[in-house]
Amino acid sequence: MITFPSSLEKSTATDAQSEMQLETQWAVKASAEDKLETPVEIGSPSKNPSNINANINTGQLIVIAGPSGVGKGTLLKHFLEGHRDLQVSISATTRQPRPGEVNGQHYYFLSKQQFDAMIADNALLEWAEFAGNCYGTPKAPIISAIAQGKRVILEIELIGARQVRKSFPQAKQIFVLPPSRDILEKRIRRRGQDSEEAIAKRLSQAEVELAAADEFDVQIVNDSLERAIAELERVIFADAITADAKTQSPDSEP
Ligand code: ADP
Ligand code: 5GP
Repeated sequence: MITFPSSLEKSTATDAQSEMQLETQWAVKASAEDKLETPVEIGSPSKNPSNINANINTGQLIVIAGPSGVGKGTLLKHFLEGHRDLQVSISATTRQPRPGEVNGQHYYFLSKQQFDAMIADNALLEWAEFAGNCYGTPKAPIISAIAQGKRVILEIELIGARQVRKSFPQAKQIFVLPPSRDILEKRIRRRGQDSEEAIAKRLSQAEVELAAADEFDVQIVNDSLERAIAELERVIFADAITADAKTQSPDSEP
C-alpha cells in the first residue's frame, strides 16, 4: 500500500533511484505552502476507485500535451509563478533523471519493477510508454487535490491524454504546438539534455503527436513565450470568466 503525505511540500531528495521504495510518499507538484489536509491511502477499493469521477465534484483537471521540446515545461513554469494556487501533478517515470532534475520535484524516478507495481495496484490515473520509458500520473494526489476544489495540471503525452479523456471527459485538454517543425527540433537540441538517439525518438514521436492536435479542445502555439502564457491563462480561466459574466449579466437573472 502506498500512503500519500498530508503535506504537499516538495521533496528535497536528490538521487532517488536507490532511495525510491514503493512506500514512497507522493505529492502533487505545488507551491510549498499548500497542504493536503487528509492523507489518502490507496490499496483499498473504496479509496482507490476505478471511476475517479465519483470522487471529483469540484476543482478542475487540465491536461497539457504537445511534442517533447515544444516548451510545455517552460510555459508551465512561468505560468505557475503567477498562479501559485494551481498544482502540477508530479509524474512517475522509469527514465533516468536529467542533470538538475530532482526526485519528487520534477518526477518520481522509479525502476521498471516499481512502475509495474503501481500499474498492478491501479495507482495510476493514466500511463504510457514514451521514447523507451514509462510515464504515469499517480492517481491519489489528483483525486485528493481536486476534491478540495483545486485546479490540477497534468503535463503528459498523447496516449495518456487519450486515457484521461475517457476516464475524465470533463478535463480541459490543451495541445501546445511549435511555430514550425524546424523550431521544434532546434528547441529540443538547444535544451541539450537528450542523447542523439533520444532526440531522434522524440522527433519521430512528435510527428504522431502533431497529427493528433485536433483531438484537443484548444491548441496554443508556443511562438512568443509571453503571448503563449497569456493564451494559456485565458484558456485555463475561461470558465471562471464565463461564470463571472453570467452572474453580472441581467439576462442571467431568473
Ligand atoms: P517540453 O517540456 O515541451 O519538452 P521544454 O520546456 O523543455 O519543452 O522546452 C524546450 C526548449 O525550448 C528549452 O530550451 C526552452 O528554453 C525552449 N523554449 C520553450 N519555449 C520557448 C519559446 N516560446 N521561445 C523560445 N524557446 C523556447
Ligand atoms: P520528458 O522525458 O521529456 O520529461 O517527457 C517525455 C514525454 O512524457 C513528454 O511529452 C511529457 O509530457 C510526457 N509525460 C510526462 N509525464 C507523463 C505522465 O505522467 N504520463 C504520460 N502519459 N506522459 C507523461
